[in-house]
Amino acid sequence: ASFWSQVPQGPADPILGVSEAFKADKSSKKINLGVGAYRDGNGKPYVLPSVLEAEKRLFNGSLDKEYLPITGLGDFTKLSAELAYGKDSKPIKEGRVAVAQSISGTGALRIGTAFLARFYPHAKAIYLPSPSWGNHTPIAKDSGLEVKQYTYFDKETVGLNFEGMKKDIQNAPNNSIILLHACAHNPTGIDPTHEQWKELSNIFKEKGHFPFFDMAYQGFASGDIDYDAFALRHFVSEGHQPILTQSFAKNMGLYGERAGAFSIVCNSAEEKAKVDSQIKILIRPLYSNPPVHGARLVSAILGDEQLRAQWLTEVKGMADRIIDMRHGLQSMLEDMNTPGSWKHISNQIGMFSFTGLKAEAVDALAANASIYMTRDGRISMAGLNKNNLEYFAENVSKAVK
Ligand code: PLP
Repeated sequence: ASFWSQVPQGPADPILGVSEAFKADKSSKKINLGVGAYRDGNGKPYVLPSVLEAEKRLFNGSLDKEYLPITGLGDFTKLSAELAYGKDSKPIKEGRVAVAQSISGTGALRIGTAFLARFYPHAKAIYLPSPSWGNHTPIAKDSGLEVKQYTYFDKETVGLNFEGMKKDIQNAPNNSIILLHACAHNPTGIDPTHEQWKELSNIFKEKGHFPFFDMAYQGFASGDIDYDAFALRHFVSEGHQPILTQSFAKNMGLYGERAGAFSIVCNSAEEKAKVDSQIKILIRPLYSNPPVHGARLVSAILGDEQLRAQWLTEVKGMADRIIDMRHGLQSMLEDMNTPGSWKHISNQIGMFSFTGLKAEAVDALAANASIYMTRDGRISMAGLNKNNLEYFAENVSKAVK
């Protein structure tokens, strides 16, 4: 027998399944709302002009292809941390933030959960919002953490169940690790308000909980990088010492370049040096050192005043186009007298919207209108544009009537 005859068939990734069904569909009207990548007003992938300009500069610079250090490009880690925490952030000024370049957000999550599994002095369990990004659970489990959940989504209002969330966080044992989506919660598109974040910060303090911020959408949510960093910066200003995972996949459109960052706010520069040494020991046997090109692109943009300004308008452009689609979709559904309330479409933020569509409606949309999304009713807003919005709204309206 073959060595691998005992290997069982694993389930397909639900999002890739959506893409495959979409690909096989011959309809000229087909729409893919499954995948979480930005599309421009014509439904095409978008390379930011600031990224193209950075590419040109790198090319003209004739850089070598030597290895990066284990924790990545120094300019990149410095600029990434400043982007997230803010230039005037106290722990950054005091030199007590340990930062490593990572294989995008996923890699940062893997380093973070592995670091916690190795060194966290309390229970090695992580609380995820219910629901959360589908990859959080396997990442945390593969790193050796136990996965638990806290209430997040309210089916009735298609909004945040803040009371339930607070209760679960309060009821978790002291010193629990709790993962928070810093902005643009995936898959729901629902974030706490600034006031709610402040309440959460207080509860974390009372309980001695450890905040783990996953920030995959800074700037991409509201169009404003500072606004989107509110939760993280507020927690840090209140004295919390979080872990942070960052991704440049969405806000710079660098999906396949795998540019991200992992950081931990430490208590002192000495503590940071020790933590740094252990991050290196963790990364070295995983992949030795990170890829260089994406980090150079990010550094070229963030480190140049003019390119950075250009990038900021481009991120805002992407966020605004999505916000536009939200308003358009809500008003079309209302104008078509679609049963139910559709305000949540505009209230939600970021790449995704939890439409509230049931699995049967999702299946009907695929079968009858060649419109594809995951069966939880989540749509990528970026897949909508002026050419397909009305077709989409009409068919959603039909599917729920
Ligand atoms: N975290 C969240 C909540 C996400 O939605 C994503 C991507 O969809 C990621 C992290 C990581 O993405 P990447 O590894 O492409 O940076």
